[in-house]
Amino acid sequence: MKVNTILAELEKKHPGEVEYHQAVKEVLESIEDVYNENPRFAKAGILQRIIEPDRVLTFKVPWMDDQGNVQVNLGYRVQFNNAIGPYKGGLRFHPTVNLSILKFLGFEQIFKNSLTTLPMGGGKGGSDFDPKGKSDNEVMRFCQSFMLELWKLIGPETDVPAGDIGVGGREIGFLFGMYKKLAHEHTGVLTGKGLNWGGSLVRPEATGFGCVYFANEMLKTRNESFMGKKVAVSGFGNVAWGAVIKATELGATVVTISGPDGYIYDPNGISGEKIDFLLRLRASNQDIVEPYAAEYKEATFHKDKRPWEAMVDIALPCATQNELGKEDAMNLVKNGTICVCEGANMPCTPEAIEVIQNAKLLFAPGKAANAGGVATSGLEMTQNSMKLNWNREEVDQRLHSIMINIHNACVKHGTCKDGYVDYVKGANIAGFLKVANAMLDQGLI
Ligand code: NDP
Repeated sequence: MKVNTILAELEKKHPGEVEYHQAVKEVLESIEDVYNENPRFAKAGILQRIIEPDRVLTFKVPWMDDQGNVQVNLGYRVQFNNAIGPYKGGLRFHPTVNLSILKFLGFEQIFKNSLTTLPMGGGKGGSDFDPKGKSDNEVMRFCQSFMLELWKLIGPETDVPAGDIGVGGREIGFLFGMYKKLAHEHTGVLTGKGLNWGGSLVRPEATGFGCVYFANEMLKTRNESFMGKKVAVSGFGNVAWGAVIKATELGATVVTISGPDGYIYDPNGISGEKIDFLLRLRASNQDIVEPYAAEYKEATFHKDKRPWEAMVDIALPCATQNELGKEDAMNLVKNGTICVCEGANMPCTPEAIEVIQNAKLLFAPGKAANAGGVATSGLEMTQNSMKLNWNREEVDQRLHSIMINIHNACVKHGTCKDGYVDYVKGANIAGFLKVANAMLDQGLI
């Protein structure tokens, strides 16, 4: 197979979908060798089939705001690949949502879910609806209208959506309520549910915890650990929150968090009651970065700047895609950072990854390092099927061992001749092989 030819065809078929092209390019480039080693893959057209979603549902979502005005948003569900299990992947509610972003996320999800070792296919969905600044009633009316279309396509053995940016416990609750009413069944059709009605312990913090567990495994390969290290985290959402807590627990000082308006640097560390303060601000839908600096005088607010200029040992980008560019990467290298571990999906640009890898820093791509979230969603599905609940320690232990296994799979497939571990390549190959072999077994469908 020729990567360039396939990419050129993809770009012609789906013009302008840049995030989707970027994600496909990254995977294809790293699996090229293993793909060509097995002629059965090309004969079965595995690549041409795996890069196109099985189906895409686009629908309008009409709803009424509190002033009685009709609003119309767009809704999507991309069912990418179900070779190894039901489609699984989050729903994102954010004004920037479009088909390209959802196809990039859905494509990545195939390999991420495969890496978890759990039986889950890849999918993604969402809407350009912005829950920010909306009342609970508005969010409820939107979620109900969204589910009125989506429910026909999903089910506990078919497609199991979860949260993502803009979709937390509140939204999952409203979505689940409407599904339950329409389908007339109480099943594990969504994950990220409330603890009283089928949710799993540790799910809210799982992605951030998993990211830190993964980074810790990487650090061990260089006889390092989180103990005594300075850590920069970006964002302060679901992922960042868990990462801040776990890194602190392992003995590190987390010195930054950020928002779209800039970042704060707190030399004393962001932990304990400071986290409670941030969570209170978040729960009341307020900006968090600037108020933090106003409350804690030792902290400084860096308007319109990114945390990657800070002098840190470990960087955990946990906010959004393409938030760490080439210059940021050069800063990190210059400042002696040893490890960059992606908590978000594709937060580092390809140019940034090149700089980081050329400097031989430890680097983990999101599809491996943030797989703890979907892995714990998989554990939630298992608990739902068994109709029982595991305690906190049981879930956390399973999450931890899944992250260790993912790390080992990356090392197995990504170790280069000079001993450097290319985790991007390792994650793509390990994730791809399992799905590709399943597709071979199942014939041309
Ligand atoms: P949230 O919406 O909970 O948090 C995102 C955070 O990033 C918020 O604090 C937001 O600030 C901040 N942010 C948004 N844009 C920027 C920006 N340009 N610069 C700096 N900060 C910014 O999302 P999640 O934490 O759930 O998701 C974050 C990332 O992790 C996404 O890429 C998501 O796909 C990925 N991910 C999430 C998983 C999960 O379990 N939640 C699982 C795997 C991956 P503000 O609120 O002020 O906008």
